[in-house]
Amino acid sequence: MHPALTRIGDLVLGTERKVRLRVTLAMIAFYGYSISSLLLLFAIDIGLVARQQGLWLLTYIWVGMTTFYVLVRTDWSSRLGNPGMDLPQCLYATVAILWAYMITGEVRSSVLMLVALVLVFGMFSLKAREVVILGIFTVVSLGIIMAVMAMHNPHIDARLEFIRFVLAAGTLPAVSGVAYYVSQMRARLIAQKGELAHALALLQEVASRDELTRLVNRRHMQQRIEEAASMQLRSHEPFCLALIDLDHFKRVNDLHGHATGDQVLKEFAVAALQALRQTDVLARWGGEEFLLLLPNEQADSAQAALTRIAKCLRTHQHGPGASGLPVTFSAGLTNHPSGEPLRETLERADQALYAAKAQGRNRTVAQLAPAMAQANTLADARQV
Ligand code: GH3
Ligand code: MG
Ligand code: MG
Repeated sequence: MHPALTRIGDLVLGTERKVRLRVTLAMIAFYGYSISSLLLLFAIDIGLVARQQGLWLLTYIWVGMTTFYVLVRTDWSSRLGNPGMDLPQCLYATVAILWAYMITGEVRSSVLMLVALVLVFGMFSLKAREVVILGIFTVVSLGIIMAVMAMHNPHIDARLEFIRFVLAAGTLPAVSGVAYYVSQMRARLIAQKGELAHALALLQEVASRDELTRLVNRRHMQQRIEEAASMQLRSHEPFCLALIDLDHFKRVNDLHGHATGDQVLKEFAVAALQALRQTDVLARWGGEEFLLLLPNEQADSAQAALTRIAKCLRTHQHGPGASGLPVTFSAGLTNHPSGEPLRETLERADQALYAAKAQGRNRTVAQLAPAMAQANTLADARQV
């Protein structure tokens, strides 16, 4: 679309999605009011409607229309507790139609059609309860107006008015019934949409988590590091990866049983998360191996994060079964230079981990990408 048209559209309808939808609905009413106003002006012109009465009705229509537009467009309507102002708009329009019915003389029967139009409009915007209110309001007001007109206007044949009322009162409940049914269906669809979104979020959560430690799993982590790498291509923000492996974990299983081993894995996850920032991502990469993504980090601050994890693990109160076990880990830390294939970064982290194991475990070895290799002086030995 032409940018100027888009700007006008944004100005008239707003940019916030929900406000835009509500204003669009109000604009449909604007269209209906415009056509009716033109017809009313024509009726005044040909003498069908008394000038003064017609102008009062036009004023009523346009003051109301403008007020609803301003309320919805500025979202003041939300503060009034009725964001779309749907029922007030439908009631207001019904009053305008009934008013027109009173002043349009012979053609008033055709005006009645518009009442059904408001109900059809209400089908897609009102709640079921509101449809009932609108239906009752319409039939009762129509009855009163027809009765008053028949009693006070000698030119009106009360019997014809009665036929009109029975026709309207007979058909309107049917239209209201359909509107009620449709709005209930809408409410059910909205509720189902919410349930589906909730179920989908739950499913995504289950599919991306490791069952034992509740950390993100390997598949999800793969996505996260790919996202980090593609974001880095634009932002040039550094990030580091660390491959962490628990030391002599097989011994824990062999000496204390598999259940204790599981407990240790869970507690490692808890202790590590305590030491990390919200934006860091720790995943169970497999077995007793974890992968840590440290966004916006240079190698030295990433190293500090690993030292914090080691400290947390030392002071962590292991639960029954795992208490007193000397749980340590070795880590291979590396940075990811922009554009490097992730496979190479992970290989380097793996080599660094291998070096940490070879140097005696319970330590972090940093092996940086070639361009930064001169900074590769980091090695943190944490013998306990
Ligand atoms: P290293 O210091 O060289 O890493 O020695 P390690 O004993 O930790 O290494 P190794 O790879 O020989 O042993 C890892 C063990 O982790 C073997 C496997 O049984 C155990 N393991 C893997 N996944 C789980 C798990 O989910 N629960 C438990 N309890 N043990 C696991
Ligand atoms: Mg191990
Ligand atoms: Mg291992």
